[in-house]
Amino acid sequence: MNYLPEYSTPLTRETLELIKYHKRCIMDLEQSGFADPEAKQKLKFLDEFKENIHFYLDGIKAIEDSETKKQAKLLKFRKIAECEVCNAMQPVTIVREEKNEKLNVMCDIVVCDVCKTEFLNIMPNNFHDRIIFYEYLIKILSPVIEKESKKKKLSPDIKGFILIVAEGKSYIAAQLEIERKENRMKQAIEDMTKSIEGTYDRLLLAKISGLNRDDLQSFVN
Ligand SMILES: [Zn+2]
Repeated sequence: MNYLPEYSTPLTRETLELIKYHKRCIMDLEQSGFADPEAKQKLKFLDEFKENIHFYLDGIKAIEDSETKKQAKLLKFRKIAECEVCNAMQPVTIVREEKNEKLNVMCDIVVCDVCKTEFLNIMPNNFHDRIIFYEYLIKILSPVIEKESKKKKLSPDIKGFILIVAEGKSYIAAQLEIERKENRMKQAIEDMTKSIEGTYDRLLLAKISGLNRDDLQSFVN
C-alpha cells in the first residue's frame, strides 16, 4: 500500500503525526531502560492503525477515481441526442441545464452539431435522474403496450415501446446496483472516518496529558 499524500486529509495527517510521536516515545522509553509492559501491544496497535489509514486513503482515492470516470462517461452520453430535425441521434453541444418540473429531473438544452437546431434533450443529464425518467416511461407505455398486444399484428410504434420498456428496466436494474455499491463504499469510508477520529482523540489525549510517557497509560483498546 502506498502513502498517497494528495489524498490525505487534515485528520489522517495529524493522526499519522500522533502515531509517529507515540512510537518515538515508546522507543525512547525502551532505550532509557524503562520498560513499558504494554510496549509491544502499543507498537502493534500503532502500526496496524497506520496501515488502516493507508487503506482508508486508498478507499478515498478509489471513490474519487470512479467518480471521475463516471463523469467522463456521462459527458459522452450527454453529447449525443436525438435531433428531431435530423431525425437521428446526433452529436450535440450542451448550452445549459433545465429542470423538468413535472418529473423533477435535470435535462440539457442542446444544439445539434449538424443542423444547429436548439432543443431540449428529454433524456436527463445524470445517471440517477435517468432512473426516474425510465420509470415514468414504463408507467405510461405499459398500459398502451398491454392494450395493443391483444391485437394480432403489432404496429411498429408498439414494437418500439416494448424495446424502450425493456431497455428502461435493464437500465434501472444496473444503475440501482451501481448506486448500492457506491453507497456501501461511502458508508465504509464514513465508518472508518469515525474510527480514525476516535483513535485520534485517544492518541491526542495521551500526548497532551503526557500519560504515555509518565504513567504508561494505555491508549490501546
Ligand atoms: Zn439536427
